[in-house]
Amino acid sequence: MSDIFARQLEALRARSLDRHLREISSPLGAIVDLDTKRLINFSSNDYLGLANDPQLRKAAMEAIAEFGVGAGASRLISGTQSPHVRLETALAKWKETEAALCFSSGYAAALGTIPALAEKNDVIILDKLCHASLIDGAKLSGATLRVFPHNHLGKLKSHLEWARQKNPAARILIVTESVFSMDGDRAPLPEIVKLKKDFGAQLFLDEAHAVGVIGRNGRGLAFEENLSQEVDVQMGTLSKALGVSGGYICGSRNMTEWLINRARSFIFSTAPPPALTVAAKAAVDFLSSNEGEKRRQRLWRNIDILAEELSIQPASAIVPWIIGDEKATLVAAQNLQDNGFLVPAIRYPTVAKGTARLRITLSAAHEATQLRSLAGAIKRLPKRD
Ligand SMILES: *Cc1c(COP(=O)(O)O)cnc(C)c1O
Repeated sequence: MSDIFARQLEALRARSLDRHLREISSPLGAIVDLDTKRLINFSSNDYLGLANDPQLRKAAMEAIAEFGVGAGASRLISGTQSPHVRLETALAKWKETEAALCFSSGYAAALGTIPALAEKNDVIILDKLCHASLIDGAKLSGATLRVFPHNHLGKLKSHLEWARQKNPAARILIVTESVFSMDGDRAPLPEIVKLKKDFGAQLFLDEAHAVGVIGRNGRGLAFEENLSQEVDVQMGTLSKALGVSGGYICGSRNMTEWLINRARSFIFSTAPPPALTVAAKAAVDFLSSNEGEKRRQRLWRNIDILAEELSIQPASAIVPWIIGDEKATLVAAQNLQDNGFLVPAIRYPTVAKGTARLRITLSAAHEATQLRSLAGAIKRLPKRD
């Protein structure tokens, strides 16, 4: 049996597609220790530097003293504790939606919610670059799936026409992201909202990389575009800019009540640890404050510094540096690491074959000098084709 795995792993290695875990021995921050080496970290999604924030740590520690470490049961049994209720109230208030529901992770939120919103005989239409959690949720639903090329409104429209024609009564769910996780670009939200209305479809928007980054007080792209009320389902994660762990869905009260009854990853999984839930609420409160808005502006100052150094125009805190070849990308990432920077090489199947890239993520915690030295190291990399 282990020979099978050895052969499979060898086949991955031969194509430079093998992956390995790397142990970080320090807390998360702008600088991390990888093995014995200190590296400037451009690999995490901790966009606001909250993962190791003293206020959040304090909130979590006090909550451990009060609630202990585990929730003990699923939310519907006895796992709904005051921290969960408070977090959901804070999330709904922050996002200006009727209600919010928390999950153990963003992945679990997608996997539980999408199948609760569409089933056999329904149609789910996804952007080609949607995150794995959205694809997996869509597959699990049993609905008919259609994929449109990235941000291609014409193809989205023709899928909508096809779906309406096929079954006029079918529910149609459009699934996309506000900021795409490996490209850092944004969805054309106003146009998608118009199409969704024209065809009586519903819109599921994954704001994983937009919350904390885009929109006043980091409320995300739907809020920034003044379309919050038009997006039926706003998904997000507590694990990235919010610095903690968990996922959430914001929308109407009836929808979240339906999810409580139907989302299997919510029903059949133990409630998130109360202390992390308290820390996540502290993160939402921070983002809602003036200080939080200042932190978000600091992130954008950093994005602007790197943009100027590299003559690029990022639409978010994610900067893809596309190299193409898988092996060349690994070599480039190693080169940066040798020069003191942690920048991950992203390869198939996370991105399409032949579009391997360095994925640089920026944080409010970076110093201007760190950004300038990264830009210098990138410019010194052997030329791209
Ligand atoms: C990270 C991510 C998720 C999953 O969120 P987790 O909280 O890490 O499980 C979902 N969607 C997108 C676009 C993501 O980047």
